Amino acid sequence: MDVVLEFADNHVFDSLYSKVANVFHVTPSLGVSTLNSTAPILNSASSTSSTIASAFLDRNNIFRQGISLFLITWVMGTLSYFVSASIAYFFYFDRQEAKRHPKFLKNQELLELKTALSNLPGMAVLTFPWFLAELRGYSYAYDDPAEYGYFYLGFSVILFLLFSDFLIYWIHRGLHHPWFYAPLHKLHHKWIIPTPFSSHAFHFLDGYSQSLPYHLFPFFFPLNKYLYLLLFGSVNYWTVLIHDGKYFSNNAVINGAAHHASHHMYFNYNYGQFFTLFDRLCSSYRHPDQELFNAELKKDKKIQEQRVSEMEYMLKNVEGKDDRTYTSKKDA
Ligand SMILES: [Zn+2]
Ligand SMILES: [Zn+2]
Repeated sequence: MDVVLEFADNHVFDSLYSKVANVFHVTPSLGVSTLNSTAPILNSASSTSSTIASAFLDRNNIFRQGISLFLITWVMGTLSYFVSASIAYFFYFDRQEAKRHPKFLKNQELLELKTALSNLPGMAVLTFPWFLAELRGYSYAYDDPAEYGYFYLGFSVILFLLFSDFLIYWIHRGLHHPWFYAPLHKLHHKWIIPTPFSSHAFHFLDGYSQSLPYHLFPFFFPLNKYLYLLLFGSVNYWTVLIHDGKYFSNNAVINGAAHHASHHMYFNYNYGQFFTLFDRLCSSYRHPDQELFNAELKKDKKIQEQRVSEMEYMLKNVEGKDDRTYTSKKDA
């Protein structure tokens, strides 16, 4: 994070904060030169304002670093979501096919965008302390890629993915417990037929809890800080990929868009993020519906009706009443 913060300090924050500091800066003479009964108050106000002003001018000040990291997390998180989901949505997501599905919601994309954009600031508030702790040297993040050897550098990628997949599996499965499902996770399950904009459309506590393993990892294991940035960017992009309706992975090991589509459709299966391993080990694996990989079968109304009735049965078990508003077929 130090590299990102230094870049942002050079190009944005130094000039932004010097303007903020100017607003707070009160010249000491204002207090000293006033020889009446208000002098102590002015002196005290002047010293508080000067402290705030100098905090904004000092790159190493913890409050300035915290504010900067919050802004970076929020802005970059929003931009990366918006850009990657838009690319997927406009360039290859089959919008017509999704809208034809009887379980596609009315104004779904707008609802997804609204949900994501209103929850990303809350996620950034909870996430920036992890980046701040890393910046101030409390993690095992390291600079030189050769420090632990190149074998470890490669191995740390596998370790990062397995560590986070294992924890996400249990956190996600926990979010399906009735205590947490309705208040937190139900919002992300509003989307029975996901679009790329569904990827970050969740309650901020839901999104934060599922991203926690990524932040915990460098506090348990050494991780090169450039690799960490790359991995963090990639896992965010992966979240878009498993919602993009591109069912190219009929893979037995990788938890792809088709596996996650089954999770949105049938709720209690495929909790994993990257691999099918923990779902298989813990008996929650469901092989994706085969028509997802076959254009002809996809059009088969009988198969679709069968899937929808199974989905409705699962929904009733998990949520009880269905409070969604679907796009009617004639609107599609
Ligand atoms: Zn879920
Ligand atoms: Zn999802």
